[in-house]
Amino acid sequence: MKFASYWQDTAPAFTGGATAAPSGLYDVAVIGAGFTGLGAARRLAMEGRRVIVLEAATVGFGASGRNGGHLNNGVAHSFTGAISTYGVETAKAMYKAFDDGIETIERIIAEEGINCNFRRAGKLKLASKPQHYEGLARNLEAINRTVDPDTAMLTKAELAGEIGSDIFHGAMLQKKSAMMHMGRFVVGLAEAAARHGAEIHENTPVTGRRQTAAGHELETPKGIVRAAKVVLATGAYTPKTFGFFRRRIVPVGSFLLATRPLTDTEVLSVMPGNRTCVTSLNVGNYFRLAPDNRLIFGGRARFSATSNQTSDEKSGRILKDALKSIFPQLGDVEVDYCWGGLVDMTKDRFPRAGEADGVYFSMGYSGHGAQIATHMGEIIADQILGRARTNPWASLPWPAIPGHLGQPWFLPLVGAYYKFKDRIG
Ligand SMILES: Cc1cc2nc3c(=O)[nH]c(=O)nc-3n(C[C@H](O)[C@H](O)[C@H](O)COP(=O)(O)OP(=O)(O)OC[C@H]3O[C@@H](n4cnc5c(N)ncnc54)[C@H](O)[C@@H]3O)c2cc1C
Repeated sequence: MKFASYWQDTAPAFTGGATAAPSGLYDVAVIGAGFTGLGAARRLAMEGRRVIVLEAATVGFGASGRNGGHLNNGVAHSFTGAISTYGVETAKAMYKAFDDGIETIERIIAEEGINCNFRRAGKLKLASKPQHYEGLARNLEAINRTVDPDTAMLTKAELAGEIGSDIFHGAMLQKKSAMMHMGRFVVGLAEAAARHGAEIHENTPVTGRRQTAAGHELETPKGIVRAAKVVLATGAYTPKTFGFFRRRIVPVGSFLLATRPLTDTEVLSVMPGNRTCVTSLNVGNYFRLAPDNRLIFGGRARFSATSNQTSDEKSGRILKDALKSIFPQLGDVEVDYCWGGLVDMTKDRFPRAGEADGVYFSMGYSGHGAQIATHMGEIIADQILGRARTNPWASLPWPAIPGHLGQPWFLPLVGAYYKFKDRIG
C-alpha cells in the first residue's frame, strides 16, 4: 500500500514551473498553488497582469490534490438551515455559487483542453437513518421549489439500482453534481496559468511579509518578492505569518483509501449508478469510483489536525471497517492507497472571500470546495481587475473563533460532540 494521494500519484508531472528567479515588481503575488490560487493566477495572467505564484511545496500539494474527487453541486449542508440563518436570497446565491463553480471548471477544461475525466455523474446524499430521509425530503422540497429543479428523492427500493448496500434508507439525488480526476485537473490548470504567463515557483514558501508604499514584500528562500497586490490562497495550510486567517480557519484532517481496481462484476455489485455518494451522518463517509474503477472511500475518521503517515494509517484502519460495513460483499479488498489532507473549516461551514488584513483571499470551503475554489479564484481576480462579480461570501460576518490561535486544541471535543449527535439524531 502506498501512503500517497491516488490523484497526485496518477497525475502527470507539472512542467511549466518558472526557471528564472523572481525579479522586479509583480502586479499580483498569489500564495498557494491549489485550485483557488491557480484559478486566480490564470485569470489575471490572461488579462495581461504580471503574476507570480509562490507555492511552499508543489502544485496541488494541499487539499486540491488530496480530496475525494467529488464536484457536488449546491450547499453541502441543510439549504433550509441556510435560509433560516441568512435569508432566502443569500441562501439561493450560495447554492448557485457552487453550481457556477462546476460550470467554471467545465468551461476551463474546454478552453484549455484538460484531460481529467470530468463527468456530470450526479450525487447521492444517502440517508443513514430513517429520520434522515425525512430531513432530506424537507430540504429537497425547499431546494426544488426555490433554486434547483434537477433534484429528486429516491426511496430505499429505488436505491437498489444505484448502490449495492442495504444499510441506507433512501437518498436525495442532485443531478448536476460531477466528478473528475483532481490531480489531472490541478496540473492542467497550472500548465494553463503558466502558458498564459504566470510565473509559478514550487518549493517557495512565503515565510514573512511587510506592507510598503508600493504594496507588499514577501520573504521567500528565493529572496524578497515585491508585488502591488497579494492573493492568499493557502486554505487549511495557512501559515503563522497570516494570523488573522489562522484565528478564523480550523484545519481538520480528512482521510481516504483507494482500493485496487474493482472487476466489472464488483463494480456492478457495489456502485451500479456510478455517482458521487455522501452519507448523512455528521461523522460520515464519502465515496466514488475512480476512472480505473478503484473505490475511493473517505471520511473524517478521526478529529485530528494532522495528516502524516502515522495519522493517515490510523484513520485508514477506521475507514477500512466503515467500507466493510457498507459493502460487505467486497470482503477484505486490497487497499492500494491511503492518504489524508487538511480541510479549512469555518465556524458556520461557509466560505469567506474578499479583502482583509491587507490581502485578497478566498478560503474556508469546509470540505466542499473542489467545485468552487477555482471559481472563487476567478472572482477574486475579477475583484482585483475592478470587475463586479457575485460574491455571496463577501458580506458574511467573520469574527475570530474565541480561544483559537491557530492550533485547534478543541478538535477532540468537537469530534465527541458530533459523534454523540450521530448516536442520538
Ligand atoms: C481529504 C480531503 C477530501 C476532500 N474532498 C472533497 C471533495 O470530494 N469535494 C469537495 O468539493 N471538496 C473536497 N475537499 C475540499 C477541497 O479539496 C478544498 O476545498 C480545495 O481543494 C481548496 O483549494 P485551495 O486552493 O483553496 O487550497 P489548497 O489546495 O489546500 O492549496 C493551498 C496551498 O497553499 C500552499 N501554502 C501553504 N502555506 C504556504 C506558504 N507559506 N507559502 C506558499 N504556499 C503555501 C500549500 O502548500 C497548498 O498547496 C476535500 C479536502 C480534503 C483535505
